Amino acid sequence: MDKEMDKELDERMNEAVVEARRSYQDRDRKRRRKRKIRKAVAVIILLGAVCLTVGLVTHHFAGRAFRTEKQFQEFASRAYDEEVLYRENEKTEVKCTFDKEFSVATRMSDECSDEIMSYRDKRMESVTQYYKDEYCSEDDDMSYALIWDVSVDKSGTGADSLVISSRLYGENDEEVTLIADNVETHLYSEETGRGLQPLQVLNTNYRDKAAEYVVSHLEKKYGDKLKPGWETFTAPEDANYNKFAFCGDNIVFYFDEDTVLDRSEGTLAVNVPSRIMEDSLRAQVLERYIDPNAPMVAITYDDGPGGESEERILDCLEKNGSVATFFYLGSRVKTNPDVIKRAVDMGCEPGNHSWNHPQFTKLTKKEMKKQVAKTQEAVEKACGSEPEVFRPPYGDQNDKVIETVDMPAFLWTVDTLDWKTRNPKKIFKSVKNKKKLDGSVILMHSIYDETADATELIVPWLREHGYQTVTLSELVEYKTGRTPADGTLYRSIK
Ligand code: ZN
Repeated sequence: MDKEMDKELDERMNEAVVEARRSYQDRDRKRRRKRKIRKAVAVIILLGAVCLTVGLVTHHFAGRAFRTEKQFQEFASRAYDEEVLYRENEKTEVKCTFDKEFSVATRMSDECSDEIMSYRDKRMESVTQYYKDEYCSEDDDMSYALIWDVSVDKSGTGADSLVISSRLYGENDEEVTLIADNVETHLYSEETGRGLQPLQVLNTNYRDKAAEYVVSHLEKKYGDKLKPGWETFTAPEDANYNKFAFCGDNIVFYFDEDTVLDRSEGTLAVNVPSRIMEDSLRAQVLERYIDPNAPMVAITYDDGPGGESEERILDCLEKNGSVATFFYLGSRVKTNPDVIKRAVDMGCEPGNHSWNHPQFTKLTKKEMKKQVAKTQEAVEKACGSEPEVFRPPYGDQNDKVIETVDMPAFLWTVDTLDWKTRNPKKIFKSVKNKKKLDGSVILMHSIYDETADATELIVPWLREHGYQTVTLSELVEYKTGRTPADGTLYRSIK
């Protein structure tokens, strides 16, 4: 009996154990199923998140890219909406020219004189070429987008303003970056169409007035966002306040990228209300004005009159309200007397560079005199006035030469080597890389296309950096207080 009971008890216990095990297995199965579901949900959520992120990134990237024509059009219209618009601009159409490597978008109005339009187009062409040469290379996978925003304003002050702004973006597979942001401004006489310098339109006190307003405006508006050292770029000095445009009721001053604000913010435009500048406006636009206290540079061109290249140089000087000194070769004058007349009418100075470019140290006194006199005569016939400055061919001279020629004789302080390199960028760099240009005499030759190309880079650059261009005689007068003296050699002018 006991044994049977034991057996039964055993069986029951076994059943209980089996039961317990079964229910444990059941629970375990359920738990595992739950865990699986949870895992699946987690995976789904994770996948979703990944998809969303990828979606967002590609969407974001799509708006910031320009690898296809459609992308580029969207990019350009966004750039105009958000970034490039520095000033109130009447609604003008945007033109997009897509290219896999270098796309260009342009917004501008055609309501301006033919002269301004032709200068504007040339300038845009030369800047575009500069960017292409500087950045495009076949070995990288970058594509570029150049965004132009150009406007012309008639101000009623006697000066029309042309503002040309360009932004260059580069895209590789990861990101789009702003490579360059540049604004240039030009003033034109409403009456003559010629380029004007700021001080032909505004009084010398204009920088103080503008600076006072700009500094307090920037402090209020940007505070801590101002870049350390920003004060240097807003002090009332020549180079800081020569980029401006008359625009409606404001004068808009432009400050380059990476000066007042961080580079990523691009160029900064500050509207100064006209009423603040009222006392600074000249009653009448002056056809020429030299500020004795501002830095000045004399550009000189030898070996002309040149042909088309010299015409281009004159176009560039004229549109920038700039002048130069041209040392002509008498023997060439009759081939192109019109450019001499045009240069002199513009305020440029004619110079004597001998009849046919001999080495003067190898000539007799008589030969020297003949070289000079024949050239004086030819130039006077072409433009109505005799040259008052002389430059010996090759710069080759000695005391005998200087005494015999008996005119103020000029060498140079910046040798661009344009005749040797025939490379516009190198010629430009030879000027740009000089630390102090005030009082410099720049040597170029007006007979090369590359020199005309370089002039189109140098002259706007000088303007932008606060340099006035003057003739050699003006440079001597302003720097020494005396008119140039006959029989004197000027190597540098201080
Ligand atoms: Zn020469």
